[in-house]
Amino acid sequence: MTITKLAAGNWKMNGTSKHLSEAKTLAAMHPASSVEVLLCPPATLLASMARIVLGSAVQLGGQDCHAKAKGAHTGDIAAEMLFDAGAGYVILGHSERRADHGETSADVAAKVEAAWDSGLVAIVCLGETEAQRDADETLAVIGAQLAQSLPAGANAENTVIAYEPVWAIGTGRTPSEAQIAEVHAFLREHAPDAGVRLLYGGSVNPDNAASIFAIANVDGALVGGASLKAADFTRIISALESSSPG
Ligand code: PEP
Repeated sequence: MTITKLAAGNWKMNGTSKHLSEAKTLAAMHPASSVEVLLCPPATLLASMARIVLGSAVQLGGQDCHAKAKGAHTGDIAAEMLFDAGAGYVILGHSERRADHGETSADVAAKVEAAWDSGLVAIVCLGETEAQRDADETLAVIGAQLAQSLPAGANAENTVIAYEPVWAIGTGRTPSEAQIAEVHAFLREHAPDAGVRLLYGGSVNPDNAASIFAIANVDGALVGGASLKAADFTRIISALESSSPG
């Protein structure tokens, strides 16, 4: 089975119009690619970024959506709005949303359905806390999150899974290669479809990307801090391209 690898950048709550130049640089550096390249900026930048990356390999995604299609939900954003602004993907269940907004896996599953209904591919994030890893609960936690966050109907076309250990996000710490390999093998075995892409996320940077992409069942990365600068993100994309023949 051929899996098209994916380098996804999550800008989180960073970026105003002056940062569009980074997307412009990234698009210029990647008119085409053997992997998929994705930027998920704040929703406020999506429409203008869509004009900038048009015709390049760079695709766009949102960072969250509401489970409902529309209505009285002040401050929230519907999946259709993201699609309308130029997104093809949406990150759901990021640990920062699970922690900051109390999102449960059931909430995430409802959002995934909403994303699919609007034609978005859902990038569903899973990951253990440091206490859970120390207690040897990692695979149990990941298994439960996987089972509860993915609705029936998840497949390689509509869903990407991102393994993001909570303790590795934004900390500069990464799991050992064996730890990543163990979780990704588990995800490959339990994913709803053999072709579902499995991303690793958590302190990926230009220096560690190649060794992470060499791990079995790692089909790309979800990258936070190192996706903010085109010069850094492009080195991660190049490492993924090198790991991905054709
Ligand atoms: C993330 O936000 O999903 C992430 C992995 O962040 P960082 O790369 O900064 O650790």
